[in-house]
Amino acid sequence: MESIKDKYNEIKRQIPDYVTIVAVTKQRTIEEIKEAFDAGVKIVGENYIQEAMDKYRHIDGLQWHFIGHLQRNKVKDAIKMFDCIQSVDSVRLAIELDKQCAKLSKVMPILIEINIGGEESKYGVKPEEALGIIRQIAELPNVHIEGLMTMEPYFDDPEQARPYFRQMKRLFNEIKSQNIPNVEMKILSMGISNSYEVAIEEGSNMVRIGTKIFGPREY
Ligand SMILES: *Cc1c(COP(=O)(O)O)cnc(C)c1O
Repeated sequence: MESIKDKYNEIKRQIPDYVTIVAVTKQRTIEEIKEAFDAGVKIVGENYIQEAMDKYRHIDGLQWHFIGHLQRNKVKDAIKMFDCIQSVDSVRLAIELDKQCAKLSKVMPILIEINIGGEESKYGVKPEEALGIIRQIAELPNVHIEGLMTMEPYFDDPEQARPYFRQMKRLFNEIKSQNIPNVEMKILSMGISNSYEVAIEEGSNMVRIGTKIFGPREY
């Protein structure tokens, strides 16, 4: 069986240097995360605050990105440990982040999550509402928008996800072209284990990979 290190290095070899890998560590043990760190992983992505906090205390040297749905009553905990919130999906959430970050004199890097497939089951801002929402969040001094994130509709054949990735890149460019103060469109976080190659071809520069590094998750 291939080790975490082998699998990570294989992905690293396949993709261009400008693409950042976020190793998605939901349901992974501290030992697995340490193995990934030793293999060269620098950023991990977690979906649940409590699960992440339990692990965070035991592991030094990593950057932690939050990629799950963030409830406003968990914001206080989230900002203590996370270096980036990739899943900001409402002005209300951004206002709470801003308020709590101000108390700690922090400025939190955030991405705006887009529900590119318009799926009921997913969180994220509607593409047509993204620009308006970003203009409002940009007014908040203690959060800093650094790009967009999406969880595309799932297909066994990633080619079918290509139009969604393409639409994301178009939206990204459109927002970038507005040159909104306090908005820096530099990160486009899209692509998971089965789709990252297509996502990169369509303009992703941050991929979030769980299964392909750690093996299948148990449900
Ligand atoms: C679980 C998850 C991933 C990783 O999915 P894999 O198929 O295991 O690579 C990426 N992004 C988000 C938001 C996730 O919840």
